[in-house]
Amino acid sequence: MMQEIAERVANIRAEMEKAAREAGRDPSEILLCAATKMNDAARVRVAVEAGVDCCGENRVQELLEKLPQGAYDGKPLHFIGHLQTNKVRQVVGKVDLIQSVDRPELLQAIEKEAAKQGLVQRILLEVNIGAEASKSGFTPQGAMEIASRMAEFPHCHVEGLMAIPPISEEPGGNTKYFAQMRQLLVDIRAKKYDNVSMACLSMGMTDDFTDAIREGSTMIRVGTAIFGARQYGAAK
Ligand SMILES: *Cc1c(COP(=O)(O)O)cnc(C)c1O
Repeated sequence: MMQEIAERVANIRAEMEKAAREAGRDPSEILLCAATKMNDAARVRVAVEAGVDCCGENRVQELLEKLPQGAYDGKPLHFIGHLQTNKVRQVVGKVDLIQSVDRPELLQAIEKEAAKQGLVQRILLEVNIGAEASKSGFTPQGAMEIASRMAEFPHCHVEGLMAIPPISEEPGGNTKYFAQMRQLLVDIRAKKYDNVSMACLSMGMTDDFTDAIREGSTMIRVGTAIFGARQYGAAK
């Protein structure tokens, strides 16, 4: 089982490298974030030791369980799930990057908590690029607008954008969304807003990360291809 995780990470690295080279990109520009939800600390450690670049956790509860167990030691920890404002204080300052800032109220809550803790929290703006009713996230215009106001949030720093496109019906189905995200990143970056760097474009998961890389992703978030299918409902 543990051997399997290490082998899978190596295989993903090879696929990442191939996709990058085909797109004329330097493979070292693209980071592999392990999406660790529903995997215990021991399994996360194996992925960390196999050389993923960072870990992304979805639920505050899981993060708080695995953190003291040393699950992520040695690699940056990101938060990638929907974050309730009443849990912000349990996440700010504990994670290197909050990828899933999906609404103005959450940004305000993070700003307030980061100010209280006296630190600057690195964040990504999550964009609902498929305009899906079931998903949270800024519209592309909303992301542009909030980026233009980041000087009002001095304890947050926007490093880039994150997206979870719709579940694709066919291979390559998300390519257009990835391309739109890339264009939005370029457009926001060109404005040179205060407190906004736009170096990171987090997109691509197990089923579509090679497409995402071809369209300019700088960070893929992969769960199933590293850990195997998640056992929903099973005891951990
Ligand atoms: C679970 C998850 C992933 C990884 O999904 P897989 O399809 O298992 O690779 C990526 N991003 C987010 C936000 C997730 O919740």
